[in-house]
Amino acid sequence: MKIAIMGAMLEEVDPFLESSEHEPLLRFFKKHSDTEYGSNLYHEAKYKDLDIVLSYSKIGKVNAALTAATMIEHFECDMLLFTGVAGAVSPDLKIGDLVAATQLCQHDLDITAFGHPHGYVPEGKVYVEPSRELLHIAKAVADEKNITLKKGIIATGDQFIADPERKEWIAKTFDADAIEMEGASVAVVCDAFDVPFFVLRAISDAADMDAAFDFDEFLKHSAKVSSSFIMAMLEKIISKQVQ
Ligand code: SAH
Repeated sequence: MKIAIMGAMLEEVDPFLESSEHEPLLRFFKKHSDTEYGSNLYHEAKYKDLDIVLSYSKIGKVNAALTAATMIEHFECDMLLFTGVAGAVSPDLKIGDLVAATQLCQHDLDITAFGHPHGYVPEGKVYVEPSRELLHIAKAVADEKNITLKKGIIATGDQFIADPERKEWIAKTFDADAIEMEGASVAVVCDAFDVPFFVLRAISDAADMDAAFDFDEFLKHSAKVSSSFIMAMLEKIISKQVQ
């Protein structure tokens, strides 16, 4: 099996690439090969029985869609795991909390002038759902490791949200729990190619007035929380394959 691991920013995939004594599992990426394709760098490695392709897309929906499609079409990945950070919409989510997407939507997709709902275009759907099996695996990992994993709706758009009013609107319109800038575009691509996917985000900010300030302070820590969890999911996927 070939698994795509992607983030949007270097900080989100860096924990897989740096050799840290505290996380010996991550050292396998020292022996990777790098390929440049479509102005992005893809790292290929073997981890136990899995082939891994790791990349960060750069920020935003277009970049993320390009990378997800490349991982699937060019590198022939069978599954995609997204790791990264997000702003909290739900008051239940605090900085550092992990949220797994149960549904993803595009909050900035708007042809409501034609009577369609927000986030909808003809032949599309407002909400795209990740693999149930990967959500089960995530729950099993969280239970085993005693990690709190929240689940929720993730709203994606090409805007960094640092505005209580816009945040409130997204919360109301999409029943969203967290906001970011890539997840739903990755979801649309994976759904179109029928590739199971999973989107995990650790909260970096509250998407309000202090968001930009919070963001830089908590980015590295939250990115690490998310990538460590993805690493644990890889172990679980391997153990399931062996059974
Ligand atoms: N600091 C970066 C910009 C980060 S943009 C720079 O200067 O280059 C924010 C990134 O984190 C995006 O990839 C997005 O997916 C996620 N994110 C975290 N909090 C967010 C928020 N409040 N609104 C939108 N995206 C957010």
